[in-house]
Amino acid sequence: MTPEEKKEQEKQYQKAYKLANKEKIAEQGRKYREKNKEKIAAKKHADHVKNYVPKPKPPKDETPRHKQKKRAEYMCRYREEKKKQIAITTAKYGKKYRAENKELLQEKHKKYQAKYVANGTVKERSRIWRDANREFYKQKMKEYYAQNKDKILERLKQYTEENKEYIRERQKAWGKRTGKSRLYSSKRRARERSAGGALSKDLVTRLMQLQKGKCRACGKPLGEDYHIDHIMPLAKGGPNVDSNCQLLHSRCNISKGARDPYEHAQRLGMLFI
Ligand SMILES: [Zn+2]
Repeated sequence: MTPEEKKEQEKQYQKAYKLANKEKIAEQGRKYREKNKEKIAAKKHADHVKNYVPKPKPPKDETPRHKQKKRAEYMCRYREEKKKQIAITTAKYGKKYRAENKELLQEKHKKYQAKYVANGTVKERSRIWRDANREFYKQKMKEYYAQNKDKILERLKQYTEENKEYIRERQKAWGKRTGKSRLYSSKRRARERSAGGALSKDLVTRLMQLQKGKCRACGKPLGEDYHIDHIMPLAKGGPNVDSNCQLLHSRCNISKGARDPYEHAQRLGMLFI
């Protein structure tokens, strides 16, 4: 047997052994690695340090950050230049997408709306937007109203019809809060406008002091439920000025109605002429 042949035989033998004892060898390897964990890690690290070749640093205007910035600038310029075209394309594809996914989008929108309406975000955002764009909003609302007057009035009528109780509660609360009459209707405001003049903002406070907190009609404390009353009613041509105003209980004010003060006093038995 030549040395070459002997070597070959040895090789074949080893191969056969490995094949026959696969599991055993693997187990041995695992055990060895487990036992010499730290040693292996140290060697790995040493090799890494030994073989480390630092990557050449890219020139300054080739760094990833610089590239990103350049790309952002380019996109910005591109969008600015092709604004119109992009808008058209977006609208076109958006329309197509919306048409194809109508139900999905509706479902999504419903969920979105429910979530943000419930936590008040929608209301708050609308308010902020309206505050920031007050003039624009006013103008838009005017235009919208002019174009949809019938529809709006119809809807309002329906809403009022369906929410009578709620509206009454709200008006009561508002009256209590502001000290203004719940008869402070649009009709009344129109009358005040046509009567000219304007009431001072602190009128209620001043009248309250002047009247010592008592109703001018019945003399009892005003409490929370009172109105600003025009002594000579606007309907009878009284002026809309501070000196024509007094505070009355709601009930006293309503019973006074639009009679003039003379008639009213007579009805209450204050005058005997
Ligand atoms: Zn009273």
